[in-house]
Amino acid sequence: MSTDADPGDRDRAAELESAAAGQVGIPVDAICVGCGQIRVKRADPDEIGQESTVDPMDLEAENCASFKHVCHRCGSTTWWNPVVILTGLLERERGE
Ligand SMILES: [Zn+2]
Repeated sequence: MSTDADPGDRDRAAELESAAAGQVGIPVDAICVGCGQIRVKRADPDEIGQESTVDPMDLEAENCASFKHVCHRCGSTTWWNPVVILTGLLERERGE
C-alpha cells in the first residue's frame, strides 16, 4: 500500500472534504478523461465495477472501472479513471 508517487504538494484530505469530491464512496485519486487533471473523488464500489461489499483496502485501482463524476474544470459530468485507491485517507476516516 503506497500512495507515495506524489507529483506535487496536493492536500488530498482537503480535496476529499470539498464538495467536489462527492458525499459517499471510496476515496480515490482519479484522472479526468476530459482535461487530464487528477483529483480526489469518492467512487461508489458499484460505479467502479466492484461488489458493494468489497473491502476498499483490498482494491487495486487498475482493476477498477471508470466512473462518472462532475469535473468543474470541464464544466460537466465526465469519465474519471481511478489512479490509486487512497487507503491512507480511508484508514483515517475509519479511525475517527
Ligand atoms: Zn475535466
